[in-house]
Amino acid sequence: MSVFDQQAEAVRCPDCALVGIASFTNEKASAAKFRLPEGFKVVATDEGDKIYCAACNRLAITLNIDP
Ligand SMILES: [Zn+2]
Repeated sequence: MSVFDQQAEAVRCPDCALVGIASFTNEKASAAKFRLPEGFKVVATDEGDKIYCAACNRLAITLNIDP
């Protein structure tokens, strides 16, 4: 078992169709732990930190990627 487990998600903007791969170190990811693809940003919401398209300011669609 590794303490360095990483999760990765494919993220896609519903507006401009920008896509990228975001990864973070655990489920309680904070902005500091996110590794974001270019063009995306992390926004703190009531449900936690979410990935937004920086250009469109829209919530990105995320898909889990199985290792
Ligand atoms: Zn966009």
